[in-house]
Amino acid sequence: MDTQSMKRFEQELRVMAAEVSRHLREKDRVHILVERSAETCEQETLAGQREMAFQSLDRNSLLLREVRAALDRIDDDEYGRCLKCEGEISEARLRALSYARHCLSCQEQIDRLSGSFPFRFAA
Ligand SMILES: [Zn+2]
Repeated sequence: MDTQSMKRFEQELRVMAAEVSRHLREKDRVHILVERSAETCEQETLAGQREMAFQSLDRNSLLLREVRAALDRIDDDEYGRCLKCEGEISEARLRALSYARHCLSCQEQIDRLSGSFPFRFAA
């Protein structure tokens, strides 16, 4: 990968990290607000809201971790290299998923093994 593309991905990842961090901080505030309205809210609605806030918090924490790991890989000059087969991750894949850890074929393998491949029917 040329330096220019690398810089572009780095920029994108930094923006993403900043946005997700900000979002996580805002979620914290929302969570506190939900807690405070406990007396006026119906219990079930409250539980639902809290669960949704948590789920989104969870996903965003994971995302932030992935984005930061990708930035570390840029620092270590390992960015764009698959962590499994050490082959190059295509720029097309990185453009779609700039924090990708694995090349497409390794990712498909991992997804199949973990059973989370999105298009698989449960037999
Ligand atoms: Zn690979």
